[in-house]
Amino acid sequence: MEITKTRCLIIGSGPAGYTAAIYTSRANIEPLLIEGYQPGGQLTITTDVENFPGYPEGVTGPQLMEDLRAQAARFGADIRAGYVNEVDFSSRPFRAVTDNGLEILADSVIICTGASAKYLGIDDEKKYNGMGVSACATCDGFFYRGKKVAVVGGGDTACEEALYLSNLASEVYLIVRKDYLRASKVMQQRVFDKTNIQVFFNTNTAGLYGEEFVEGAHLVEHIGTDKENRFDLPLDGFFLAIGHKPNTEVFSKYIELDETGYIKVNGAGTSTNVPGVFAAGDVADPNYRQAITAAGMGCKAALDVERFLAEQN
Ligand code: NDP
Repeated sequence: MEITKTRCLIIGSGPAGYTAAIYTSRANIEPLLIEGYQPGGQLTITTDVENFPGYPEGVTGPQLMEDLRAQAARFGADIRAGYVNEVDFSSRPFRAVTDNGLEILADSVIICTGASAKYLGIDDEKKYNGMGVSACATCDGFFYRGKKVAVVGGGDTACEEALYLSNLASEVYLIVRKDYLRASKVMQQRVFDKTNIQVFFNTNTAGLYGEEFVEGAHLVEHIGTDKENRFDLPLDGFFLAIGHKPNTEVFSKYIELDETGYIKVNGAGTSTNVPGVFAAGDVADPNYRQAITAAGMGCKAALDVERFLAEQN
């Protein structure tokens, strides 16, 4: 196994990871960044990004990530393929091992492994991904102006996404598997007050249909009961809002997580319960989950690492 040493290991290659790499490289920390299974992160599966400052004409998600990667590489960040599947944060230097046989000894670590949107697990979600299926209304809602969309889920995220979309789309259908919304009362009320949001309770999605893009969903009301009713709902867009799963499993032995698995950071900073280990981006942010907020947090983590290493010396 190849062994390498670094002053700062960055795990993950979304906007947080690359921004942390840009800042630490420019501070002469010579970071090593391990990209993970999905180099570029969640943005590589979105189409156009129109809300990242600095791109007045918009930019595709993959292009934005390529630009961030090139900017980090320009300042000398050592960016390598691989997936960190084992860590030991019990003493310094911290130790991490990748699936392609690299052992890393690091004076500091920035965890930027992101979160993954949960999907229903039906084949049609993959078939129409980026062709009418999305897990981010803020990213893709704009493309559905004046159109009909569905949002799946009954939590605060689903209500928030439905409300956001109701200001763009002509009709929004909220597809809820139970006979109630799990969202907070205030969010529920906002949804019920909107005239162009229709809630389908006790309803599951069996599949999607359409030539190239989504043209509708096959829905089932009261599934598995004697009231079962199957019907098709014509749609232009199908949004998943059934929760996100932060990618924290590999760190859970050492790093304190909240009850939903997100890394707990200290106040508005990026330090975790292990001195020298920092976290940035969606992995530590259940609330905002935007590319620009992740990038901002990546910058903060890099500055925190710089101070930490200076104190150690
Ligand atoms: P939640 O776990 O709260 O809700 C997930 C929703 O998706 C539930 O209604 C659940 O249904 C439904 N769901 C899960 N799996 C499936 C499935 N396979 N098929 C159909 N429906 C499914 O996730 P959220 O992302 O909404 O919220 C996460 C946390 O973040 C919460 O604590 C929330 O309060 C918070 N949050 C707060 C916001 C705010 O305050 N503005 C905004 C967004 C989130 P069921 O109820 O049947 O399990």
